[in-house]
Amino acid sequence: MKKYQNFINGKWVDAKSGQTFEDRNPANWDEVVGTFPKSGKEDVDEAVKAARTAFEKWRLVPAPQRGNILKKVGDIMTARKEKIARTMTREMGKVIVETRGDVQEGIDTAYYAASEGRRLFGHTVPSELPNKFNMAIRVPIGVAGIITPWNFPMAIPTWKVFPAILCGNTIVFKPAHDTPATATLLVEILMEAGVPEGVVNIIHGGGADVGNAIVDHPDVDLISFTGSTAVGKKISASASQTLKRVSLELGGKNAQIVMDDADLNLALDGVLWGAFGTTGQRCTATSRLLLHEKVYDKFMSMLVDRTQKLRLGDGLLATTDVGPCIHEGQRKTVHGYVELGQQEGARLVLGGSVGAGNGLSKGWFYQPTIFTDVTPEMRIAKEEIFGPVLSVIRVKSLEEGITVLNNTIYGLSSSIYTKDVNSAFKAIRDVKAGITYINAPTIGAEAHMPFGGVKQTGNGHREGGWTVYDFFSEWKTVYIDYSGGLQRAQIDIEE
Ligand code: NAD
Repeated sequence: MKKYQNFINGKWVDAKSGQTFEDRNPANWDEVVGTFPKSGKEDVDEAVKAARTAFEKWRLVPAPQRGNILKKVGDIMTARKEKIARTMTREMGKVIVETRGDVQEGIDTAYYAASEGRRLFGHTVPSELPNKFNMAIRVPIGVAGIITPWNFPMAIPTWKVFPAILCGNTIVFKPAHDTPATATLLVEILMEAGVPEGVVNIIHGGGADVGNAIVDHPDVDLISFTGSTAVGKKISASASQTLKRVSLELGGKNAQIVMDDADLNLALDGVLWGAFGTTGQRCTATSRLLLHEKVYDKFMSMLVDRTQKLRLGDGLLATTDVGPCIHEGQRKTVHGYVELGQQEGARLVLGGSVGAGNGLSKGWFYQPTIFTDVTPEMRIAKEEIFGPVLSVIRVKSLEEGITVLNNTIYGLSSSIYTKDVNSAFKAIRDVKAGITYINAPTIGAEAHMPFGGVKQTGNGHREGGWTVYDFFSEWKTVYIDYSGGLQRAQIDIEE
């Protein structure tokens, strides 16, 4: 069993407390992936100090050179794609084809960030006065606290770490307690590619001990957080005490509408992938199917038939379609929602219990589950479940579908299957979500496009693409007066 450490100022070190925690395989809880330092405030203090010192040099490295390092990061990740994917599947259970995709998203993000080193565009704008030049340029901010969830152990950290350091910031990174091994592989690659000591620091441990200490730290300038809405609210409240810049990417309750004119086979592939891919543990998972009444019976029989054939198992096996839940607590939460759905009067048509059978006895498996007769006000129709549970709601029209889709506190991803261009454009206009897919499932974000949600899915920032660079850099406005005299804005202008 491998013993892992924190990484502070270029050195691998234990937690000051000397305590450790175990990282276990959710498909086989007897298998320990490694032990990790159970860190606390003192470890965070040291990492922040290192990051602050390193910032003074790193901010002066030209952005194209910072980008060159990220290009190397992408190359090393490409060479190690399989190793990272296998480690990820062992520690969080996603099937190997998906963990490879997770690494690929990191590689894409690295190459995008590398190219951004030669852009980081500012603006030049005409002055209202003669012989005066105006521009706005991007400058680094300082020390960034990066706090990430377990469901995309490589992609999500890279969405934050790469733009943060490309913009000239230094970081203190706290990965999820359940996926510390994948995060460690990322830090090793960054160092190998030539990131200087102190620029990237990683501290392992729990949210209350390490995450809190980062958020409260007076010398951390910004927080980039992805996780649950409940924790996001706490972070927002704590960070307001030091007026930190905070980006929150939170929960979702995403829906796929299937209209009566849809290609039903295409819509079926979409909902299966959206609802049961990653065992439903995606912020963008399809948790609700809003099915037009005219195709309801036909589509339901197609859906139940295909869902029954999905095979639960260890994500490293080629025969597995759906892996385990991340841990016992999450599986209990999922089952709690299944019991709740039945109490609320929904009809359980498939699944509804833990996975049993060959190779499943030592993992946190839960059967792919479908509820019908769900009404929009039920809690299973409005709350994030984060597991392989699909709630089906019958709708009579596009308008009703959109109204039901919007009936949650979340607004991350959405999807509509239709062949009617008018319906598609009405959905694009009226659906309240950060992402809308037409004839594609609710999952499938690409690294070079903005990613994020509205309502309680976040606080208005976007990751991915060009937009994330706004979060990790500060605008500085510069006026250069070469007139040789005092020119007063708004006053010395000719009428
Ligand atoms: P979580 O909120 O429990 O934990 C996320 C991270 O925050 C972890 O690293 C955790 O240790 C840390 N944390 C916990 N309490 C903290 C505190 N008080 N202060 C600081 N840090 C703290 O979420 P999770 O279970 O890891 O992930 C699942 C959630 O993440 C779901 O709600 C899912 O929708 C959401 N998610 C959102 C996106 C998105 O981009 N919108 C992407 C992936 C996951």
